[in-house]
Amino acid sequence: MAEKTLFQKIADREVPADIVYEDDVAVAFRDIDPVAPVHVLCIPRKPIPRADAVEPEDEPIVGHLFTVARKVAAQEGLEDYRLVVNCGEKAGQTVFHLHVHLIGGRDLGNMTSG
Ligand code: AMP
Repeated sequence: MAEKTLFQKIADREVPADIVYEDDVAVAFRDIDPVAPVHVLCIPRKPIPRADAVEPEDEPIVGHLFTVARKVAAQEGLEDYRLVVNCGEKAGQTVFHLHVHLIGGRDLGNMTSG
């Protein structure tokens, strides 16, 4: 069996983290190096390595991550927030277990315009 990813170890509570939400499909925990007052990583329990490894059968899992992000945002009192997925090293991905960054709690501007 492949070695567990860091984030699998967090989901399995083998590595400590501040878990803010979990269910059968996904786990959400606070980023260890937050870039905003709220910075939570939403991950599938399934160790999909990166966004371009998502297969058609994974679509419900990936869609569920948006639901988890919405629930955590509500828990955290966020009305507006940013969701980010880095795919590959040149895009800044450092942990190869699919994760959606939920970032909020400050004015984030618009990183995709201009
Ligand atoms: P990315 O750069 O998109 O792969 O994001 C990986 C994120 O995981 C970074 O924002 C890191 O700060 C975060 N991270 C790394 N190790 C841990 C950990 N042990 N607990 C929580 N977050 C972590």
